[in-house]
Amino acid sequence: MPKTNQSKILIIYTGGTIGMITDVETGSLKPFDFNQITEEVPELKKVPYHLETLSFDEPIDSSNVTPVEWIKVANLIEENYKIYDGFVVLHGSDTMAYSASALSFMLRHLNKPVIFTGSQLPIGVIRTDGKENLITAIEIAGAKLSGKPIVPEVCVYFEYKLYRGNRTTKLNAEHFEAFESFDYPILANAGIKIDYNLNKILGHRDQPLQIYRNFNTNVAVLTLFPGVTQEFVRHFFNTPNLQGVVIQTFGSGNALSKQWFLDELLRAVRKNIILFNVTQCKRGEVNQGRYETSEALDRIGVVGAKDMTLEAAITKMMVVLGELTEPEEIKAALVRSFCGEIKSTIVSNS
Ligand code: ASP
Repeated sequence: MPKTNQSKILIIYTGGTIGMITDVETGSLKPFDFNQITEEVPELKKVPYHLETLSFDEPIDSSNVTPVEWIKVANLIEENYKIYDGFVVLHGSDTMAYSASALSFMLRHLNKPVIFTGSQLPIGVIRTDGKENLITAIEIAGAKLSGKPIVPEVCVYFEYKLYRGNRTTKLNAEHFEAFESFDYPILANAGIKIDYNLNKILGHRDQPLQIYRNFNTNVAVLTLFPGVTQEFVRHFFNTPNLQGVVIQTFGSGNALSKQWFLDELLRAVRKNIILFNVTQCKRGEVNQGRYETSEALDRIGVVGAKDMTLEAAITKMMVVLGELTEPEEIKAALVRSFCGEIKSTIVSNS
């Protein structure tokens, strides 16, 4: 029985390396039965919280994640929201930044921690990073100050650092320090004690949790590169049912200023395709109009995504296009901060 003042944490296992074993026949990593995770981490018994676990029936490698899995995780959080003080989502690191971004846009008025974590080495491997990631993520999910959760937002915890989920990008396929939040400070650093960056963490919400499940997947990413051809761009924009495109531009949001390219964009805008400009640079923001090569984008009606990550931009677009239909409303929502994903003084209350 949990003590009355003990935090209750629900661990949701979706898949990923943290719970994988080596297939004896092929030698490749595959997900295993989640129940084994507690056998692999006996330290969990010493954590001073009440822990419970739930697993996807069929855990996935996160490269296969889709909005269907995001909705499953959101549903599990909603069903258990009143019972638990915090949630730890175990997820493959490959697409964790996308999933954490998506969940941050789905879980409106979230007032409890939802901490994504995983590992680079399976938990059964002696040098695994999974144990520390899991145990500290649990500690953060249950941490309270004056009776309230310290981090009431969707985060990623990896290798001693806590990040805002919708600000993260996976940047290293080999090192334990796999994530970075290029344009927003870390929310906590786990050393001898966990140091929280309190004034960078979202404030508490009073409204009840509301889940947005309507994803519009008629979206795509167009990465610009020197030499991109008109034929390719035209084919791209002729994708059936396309409604939103994140354009990955150069530097501070610059694109080729060739007339054919601007004509293709204009044609797309006339078909009511929403264009969202994200920079290929890891740090810094889109500033349309700073150079001649981005001034035209502004005139055409391309929306500048400021300092948003690609992961946040594409998932936000799916959520916003699932919710709104009027182009001007969609554009206004895209540049409004829902939960700290974009540099803004206005945080949406919706
Ligand atoms: N391929 C794995 C996944 O993303 C890698 C990991 O778990 O970190 O599911």
